[in-house]
Amino acid sequence: MKTQSTDVLVIGAGPAGSIAAAMVHQAGFKVRVVEREKFPRFVIGESLLPRCMEVLEEAQLLDAVKEKNFQQKFGAKFLRGDDVADFNFSNQFTEGWNWTWQVPRAEFDLALATEVQRKGVPVEFETTVTDIQFFDDESSLTTVQRADGSIEKITASFIIDASGYGRVIPRLFNLDKPSNLDPRKAVFAHVQDKHRDQFEEPNRIIVVLYAPGVWVWIIPFASGITSVGFVGSFDFFNGVEGDLSQQYQTLIQDHPYLRKRFGDAARVFEPRKLEAWSATTERFYGKGYVLTGNVTEFLDPIFSSGVMFATVSSNLASKMVIRKLRGEQVDWEQEYTQVIQQGVDTFRTYVMGWYDGTLETVFFAKDPDLEIKRKICSVLAGYVWDQQNDFVRDHAGAIKRLAKLIHVQQRLQTTQ
Ligand code: FAD
Repeated sequence: MKTQSTDVLVIGAGPAGSIAAAMVHQAGFKVRVVEREKFPRFVIGESLLPRCMEVLEEAQLLDAVKEKNFQQKFGAKFLRGDDVADFNFSNQFTEGWNWTWQVPRAEFDLALATEVQRKGVPVEFETTVTDIQFFDDESSLTTVQRADGSIEKITASFIIDASGYGRVIPRLFNLDKPSNLDPRKAVFAHVQDKHRDQFEEPNRIIVVLYAPGVWVWIIPFASGITSVGFVGSFDFFNGVEGDLSQQYQTLIQDHPYLRKRFGDAARVFEPRKLEAWSATTERFYGKGYVLTGNVTEFLDPIFSSGVMFATVSSNLASKMVIRKLRGEQVDWEQEYTQVIQQGVDTFRTYVMGWYDGTLETVFFAKDPDLEIKRKICSVLAGYVWDQQNDFVRDHAGAIKRLAKLIHVQQRLQTTQ
């Protein structure tokens, strides 16, 4: 049996894995990536946030993505009937990027992994991690299985687990923990968006509030294909008749905007479902490993925070791994877990606020306070570590107080 050796082993070649590999390689350490699938492979998560751009730039992966000419994204737009809540990333509180992309992930992830390979990092596709043994000195021996069934071993000084929904280390070492968010389900497809140009801002991402607690993502790609997905409770979907394909069509036909735009749209693939995706783990690090991206915690798709957390956490974790390999002391709890957790907790407040109606009150308020809107816009752009922003620093309190104030103003207006 062949045994290979490396300084850092990265599990998974999604955005988290590619960022980690590029950063470690840039610092001069030996790194290799093992990836279960053959790329390009489908994965959901097509709307990025501006905060990702800084990380792509630092990992020197931005130019490779720019070359792909993905559809640019300049803001977040929410529709409720005729009401519109429109956030433009160029009008935000935190200094940072004011645009990003909306990407078919198969192509985006392939572009990142290919660039990582081009830099000289071995990325081994169709190579699945099946077992890991950690030793007292924090080194490890990982067992991988290739597509042809052959088994290999890899020794590493450190492992970065960026295996996303695979959750390799949490599953192998029983670290999984249930999320405190209600389980939800998504039904989605890619469709030919041939009527796009008849609609206002045809290339904009839109979130449509479909029914209480139910929403739709519309993510147009540069190719003319659009990702359209419904998210709601299990009860909501149980109340729609038919198999997945019929349910999807019924939901489109039952909404005026969706019917007009997608009622006769050909599907690129038949509707798929994902359910109960929220998950977290007991710890984000341990002796000889760190977890990054979706493996740490995934909340909910509503504010497109998944790839942002994947890239930001990988960026931070790989910098710490580099310091550790250089012999420096690192405080994983304070410098990594607490930092990532603070960002996750901020988004959790907004996710919960979306589903309990607090954010609906805030987003669709008439004549919003523009300074407050700029602050919320920064959260929606992924700048959830800016302590100058009270909608980050005191996320739960600030949003609740604002919604209360709006309710009072609305009551006063109706009694006048
Ligand atoms: P992944 O992209 O999942 O990559 C992990 C890789 O690890 C995979 O390629 C996998 O094959 C590999 N792997 C797994 N197990 C093993 C193993 N044993 N050995 C080797 N390799 C392995 N995020 C957004 O930013 N925007 C959105 O619009 C958005 N929409 C979403 C909609 C829904 C319904 C859901 C559920 C999620 C959405 N997300 C969105 C979240 C997004 O999918 C993830 O957050 C993102 O893909 C995480 O990236 P990652 O690199 O951590 O993991």
